[in-house]
Amino acid sequence: KDESLDLVAIAERMATVKHKIFVLSGKGGVGKSTFSAQLAFALAAKDFQVGLLDIDICGPSIPKMLGLEGQEIHQSNLGWSPVYVESNLGVMSIGFMLPNPDEAVIWRGPRKNGIIKQFLKDVYWGELDFLVVDAPPGTSDEHISIVQFLQATGIDGAIIVTTPQQVSLIDVRKEVSFCKKVGLQVLGIVENMSGLSQQVSDFKFMRVTETGEQRDVTEWVMEYMREKAPEMLDLVAFSEVFDSSGGGAAKMCSDMGVPFLGKVPLDPRLCKAAEEGRSCFDDNKCGSSAPALKRIIDKL
Ligand code: ADP
Repeated sequence: KDESLDLVAIAERMATVKHKIFVLSGKGGVGKSTFSAQLAFALAAKDFQVGLLDIDICGPSIPKMLGLEGQEIHQSNLGWSPVYVESNLGVMSIGFMLPNPDEAVIWRGPRKNGIIKQFLKDVYWGELDFLVVDAPPGTSDEHISIVQFLQATGIDGAIIVTTPQQVSLIDVRKEVSFCKKVGLQVLGIVENMSGLSQQVSDFKFMRVTETGEQRDVTEWVMEYMREKAPEMLDLVAFSEVFDSSGGGAAKMCSDMGVPFLGKVPLDPRLCKAAEEGRSCFDDNKCGSSAPALKRIIDKL
């Protein structure tokens, strides 16, 4: 009986949310939270009313990636208030509730389900165009419970983030199969860390001796370029990092009949934006990852 009352309460809360999008990954460390954070920034920049819900209970990195470390959730008579980056971008994460961010959260399934239910039932988002849900990697208790809790209110679908190599793609196949089993539409797959893309002026150049010692010769190379071909400093150098000879995510998508959304390169400037809790779309400082992300988000 309690369960059905909870579902009614969740349905009431979710009645003011137009679209719900899940961001999933098979493995950790592939850039799922980075993608969720930048997706939320991008939607908010388009003047949508956006909520970002972080249910990665054991590794909540969303507060940092949104520049909200150390913030706390407040309670009002309407419920828990999200922490706001802008008036149209609110964030909710277990990270806001932990007294010490270095403390490990060791919770078993029921406790995790309990907090997810509370997030859905007690957070007062108000009117939202989009609720982006950053899920933990894999397919565990959290995924099953959130899908169950939200099924009645409808979920638009899931975006799955992966890296190009086989070891990550194998887990994505499981993720896709999970989505099919629970009736969650796969909106598409993003191949992140797809090659390294870096502005030439950001590179360090090393001379490696026979004994393996490295000598930094960046200044010498830069001086040469500045003198002989300054336009080369603005070039973006690209190299493959992971083995994608198997065709990467694009091939897997065509095999599995799910949409391929595009590739985002490894880009130190995107990593820096995430570390500093900034949108990578704000200035022109995010190399080629920002336009790549923008192309993907515009497709949704
Ligand atoms: P996940 O949520 O999948 O565990 P994160 O989003 O936390 O992964 O990303 C792991 C680390 O890699 C973070 O430091 C993040 O800033 C960095 N990162 C993710 N994608 C990129 C990218 N395309 N270029 C550079 N750094 C990236």
